[in-house]
Amino acid sequence: MTIPLDKTGCPDLHALVEHHGGYDKITPQAWAEFDRQTAEWQAQRRTGSQGNGESPASECAAADPETLCICGLPGTVSRPRKGGGRPIWRCEEHRDHWPYYAEIPLKRAAE
Ligand SMILES: [Zn+2]
Repeated sequence: MTIPLDKTGCPDLHALVEHHGGYDKITPQAWAEFDRQTAEWQAQRRTGSQGNGESPASECAAADPETLCICGLPGTVSRPRKGGGRPIWRCEEHRDHWPYYAEIPLKRAAE
């Protein structure tokens, strides 16, 4: 599985969606790989491997990378990850799109 990258080297969700022919058709394996590569890309940015401390602003990692949605926007809702690890965040637009490794919370009686 190859994850398409954008010109900054960040995994490109839009290209991934196009590659699979739809958001819902992206396989769990592809999601896992996408998540892994995104985390890797963010870790590289955080350690400043791009050098001089004047890293260009990028919508891909503008906010706290721990709370970013898959699309790069800051997440507004989160779910725990099965088996632990960092929680998974989604923005308003993607709040119904959770990978298979996200815990599905029980519905509250009030809802
Ligand atoms: Zn999003």
